[in-house]
Amino acid sequence: MIEIIVGIIVITFILESVLDELNQRSSAKEPDPLVADLYDRKGKAKSLAYGAERLQLGLISGAISTALMILALTQGWFASLDSFWREQIDSSLLVSLFFIGSLSIISSLISLPFGIYGTFVIEAKYGFNKTTWKTYFSDSAKGLALSVLLGGPILAAVIWLYQEFAGSFWLFAWLLVSAVSVFMFMFGTKLILPLFNKLTPLPDGTLKLAISKYCESQGYSLKNLFVMDGSRRSTKANAFFSGMGRSKTIVLFDTLIEKLSEKEIVAVLAHEIGHYKLRHTAAMFIASNIQTLAIFALLGWSLQYDDLSKVLGADTASFHLSALTFFILLTPLQIFLGLINNSISRRNELAADTFAAKTYQRAPMRSALSKISTDSLANLTPHPLYVAFNYTHPPLVSRLKNVGS
Ligand SMILES: [Zn+2]
Repeated sequence: MIEIIVGIIVITFILESVLDELNQRSSAKEPDPLVADLYDRKGKAKSLAYGAERLQLGLISGAISTALMILALTQGWFASLDSFWREQIDSSLLVSLFFIGSLSIISSLISLPFGIYGTFVIEAKYGFNKTTWKTYFSDSAKGLALSVLLGGPILAAVIWLYQEFAGSFWLFAWLLVSAVSVFMFMFGTKLILPLFNKLTPLPDGTLKLAISKYCESQGYSLKNLFVMDGSRRSTKANAFFSGMGRSKTIVLFDTLIEKLSEKEIVAVLAHEIGHYKLRHTAAMFIASNIQTLAIFALLGWSLQYDDLSKVLGADTASFHLSALTFFILLTPLQIFLGLINNSISRRNELAADTFAAKTYQRAPMRSALSKISTDSLANLTPHPLYVAFNYTHPPLVSRLKNVGS
């Protein structure tokens, strides 16, 4: 069975690399006439070079983590880590927690240099990076603290449920994880985001008036509209919608407000309200919880086979080793689900664009989309296969065609 596990890791890496390569070649193609004049010769060259550098970094980090994973699997490193913790601690719950915790720290340390290079070398070179070293490390520290304080207890509860109710654990574990995800869906923007960013209400002025007028026309109550200091980390512009019911929130990055005209900002906001009105956010949330249920059910069923642990070289079966093997074996299914989720997400994006064009105006929606894409040096001619596997938003050409002129 170890051959199958290593095979999945290798095939996944090859698939990702082939897609990257196809996409990079495709980026040199002549663009559709709709977007042909968005980049001048210099801009096009810059976008190509940026894409190539990001691709190279991804390939190197992917190759290194794949190689390390294969070594760990074939050399019994996971079993050694497991027996190391077993010698220190008696409680099997704590052994699982420390195993998963130490493995996450090791994998963060492996990806750390690539993250630093991406931010401080590549993003900086193309003028995107605004992150200081201080922000970078305080982000990492806060991220770590959050995973220990939030992730730790949830994980401990899941393992405890497994030890207490092996057969029906998956249902209880899913109920717990779903309850947490509902809470985060409702309040995550309010509770977690402020740890990393400053959210301020949109100041009074012509922009706020234009936004209020549009929201009134849609019967959308504008209680939670915030401007986020995205410029602390990057010059790239963005906006998003979160929550539901009374907790629904729209966040506009300050970089978006800086770069777009007032009409374009209202169009972007209309797109976000479209996601809400068309019930995309709620539907995606429910769909992801159903997928989690299926995954927990499969996990619960798989955990009865001790071979999942033994294949990694351990003598005794454990929750963490079996779960590790399970999630590697699950990769093909995850990739397949990713294809479906991405395709639904892209369809929703087009529907939200249409909503904005219909309820507000076409022209500023088009120009906002073009500006956001070119400003981030986006590849205007991505490969269709790469889009299928990786894009949650359709390529610019599809979006412009959909909005129409
Ligand atoms: Zn959207």
